[in-house]
Amino acid sequence: MCGICLVAVLANANGAHIVKKGETLYSIATANKVSVQRLMSENGITKPTSLQIGRRLTIPGTSSKKKTASISLKTSTVTRSSSSVTKSKTVIIDPGHGGRDKGAVWGGVRESDLNLKTAFKLEYYLKRAGYKVVMTRRSDRYVSLMSRAAIANRYRNAVFVSIHYNATRETWVHGGETFHGGSSTSRYLASSLQRNLVSHCKVRNRGARYAGFTVLHNTKCPAALVECGFISNAKERARCNTSSFQDAAARSILAGIERWDRAY
Ligand SMILES: [Zn+2]
Repeated sequence: MCGICLVAVLANANGAHIVKKGETLYSIATANKVSVQRLMSENGITKPTSLQIGRRLTIPGTSSKKKTASISLKTSTVTRSSSSVTKSKTVIIDPGHGGRDKGAVWGGVRESDLNLKTAFKLEYYLKRAGYKVVMTRRSDRYVSLMSRAAIANRYRNAVFVSIHYNATRETWVHGGETFHGGSSTSRYLASSLQRNLVSHCKVRNRGARYAGFTVLHNTKCPAALVECGFISNAKERARCNTSSFQDAAARSILAGIERWDRAY
């Protein structure tokens, strides 16, 4: 048994694997006898290139399931219900921009790409938490603002969350902010999303407030637009461009929706 195989067996016994230098999704998947696709979906990975050294991966399989089961037995009822009960609401995830509309572009980073990456991670976490999910786009393509609202308006008992990254010529500006269209439910949703964004992503709190954005005013359901961070600020751009930041942003949006969902 070579060193790598030994690591893989140990990892599988624990149901987790810490990514080491030189490893790829393919090598980890092969060593653990799972498909690359399954490994990616289990860990909310949308692009194989986003794998980072030191990242903790959950290895799908019997051992990890056993571990998950034993953990959930020890956790509180609240945790168990939030991860296993099917929720009644449909979450419309709207990754901002796409296609010919790239959104903000700074330092070679395209906002439309970050929005989509974060959206895929959010889709994974929402589904795992029991929500039904609809995406307004799943690839780098243009979708008009009215079409995005129209997609949301096809669903009853829905909630709409648009994902964006911010930019300004004032490159020292940084932080996260969330917008709503003025209704009381949307206002509560925006403040819940904003509170969780700040605590999960450790970004400066620029607050939750009203905005006249088309997607917020043409959706019939509660709606909010999250600006996760400023890619015009070099330091924040470097953070926003990491898989771990996008992951934290996605988790924060899930937490914000769950908090709001418990109130409405
Ligand atoms: Zn945007």
